[in-house]
Amino acid sequence: MKVPLLDLKAQYATIKEQVLVAISEVLESQRCIGGPKVAELEEKIAAISDCKFAVGASSGTDAILNSLMSLDIGAGDEVITTPFTFFATVGCIVRAGAKPVFVDIDARTFNINAALIESVVTEKTKAIMPVHLFGQMADMNLIMAVADKYNIVVIEDAAQSITSTYKDRKSGSIGTVGCFSFFPSKNLGGIGDGGMIVTNDEQLYNRLFIMRNHGSEPKYYHKYVGANFRLDPIQAAALLVKLPHLEDWSEARRRNAAYYNEKFAGTAVKPPDINPDCVSIYNQYVIRVPRRDEVVAHLKKNDIGCEIYYPLPIHLQECFRYLGYKEGDFPEAEKAAKEVMAIPIYPELTDEMKNYVADTILAFLG
Ligand SMILES: *Cc1c(COP(=O)(O)O)cnc(C)c1O
Repeated sequence: MKVPLLDLKAQYATIKEQVLVAISEVLESQRCIGGPKVAELEEKIAAISDCKFAVGASSGTDAILNSLMSLDIGAGDEVITTPFTFFATVGCIVRAGAKPVFVDIDARTFNINAALIESVVTEKTKAIMPVHLFGQMADMNLIMAVADKYNIVVIEDAAQSITSTYKDRKSGSIGTVGCFSFFPSKNLGGIGDGGMIVTNDEQLYNRLFIMRNHGSEPKYYHKYVGANFRLDPIQAAALLVKLPHLEDWSEARRRNAAYYNEKFAGTAVKPPDINPDCVSIYNQYVIRVPRRDEVVAHLKKNDIGCEIYYPLPIHLQECFRYLGYKEGDFPEAEKAAKEVMAIPIYPELTDEMKNYVADTILAFLG
């Protein structure tokens, strides 16, 4: 049996006609930049995120970069974040001109260990950027307590966690801003790149809105240096078709996770830990296994898709050597990088497929 890590064709087959109609509407209108589809998606994403405002972005990466720039974070500023994340989180901090400052992760959730944040706050700290990894939110109460105490902003990298909750509050709605990605492998994925920023701060919303269009307001008059951070209307059209299915798709991922959890209970495979305060959307189902690299090779040999998120923590990346971090600085992040692997969790998986994935891993580990 062949089980890919993600099967986007299976999802597309269920919505193909509507997607083609929606794209065709954009083409017929020839509103090729901005327009009603982008505005409608912004309104709907704000609503499902319990936020007042949303601004489309050209990608999740640009959502983060626009947020940093609109909050005037740059040279001389420090941003506290996690070393166990996708590169974009930290790449944006550096591209904005600021300095990333890491603390280790919580071994249970893979998210930033919020209890360590206060120890690295300095006069230069301008922001905390938690990442809600694999679909589960970070410990936002602790993070907001530190942020409020030192009067620093919080940028939620919610790229993997749209509609996920922490104490019944939506991902992206607790910090100063929340950033989503519509990369095709995210729970709400476009047919190309896209992203969105949500906030409850009207003044910040206005700035984000202007910044996405080169800081232009009115047209051809520039008070700020922004960039082209715009969401493509064809992406918005496809995402509007997918949005009504998002809750069912995430629920199906949770059912798949529960199935695996049961299969792996009491075995050498460690299923993901979900904080009782959180509802995860399981963008990834990430297990820890002994002899990880051998397990990965064995699955690939058996036509089962899997991936290591992430094999090298950010503080050990070559491009960030100048920051002066070294191996051993963040032992939990480094340990996770050596032990984790993601297995197929997408909504369209059948029971046979899940069984095959779990049994192949368990048989290999004896
Ligand atoms: C996907 C992702 C991003 C970037 O999103 P893009 O849309 O690919 O630019 C940022 N942070 C995290 C944690 C992500 O998973």
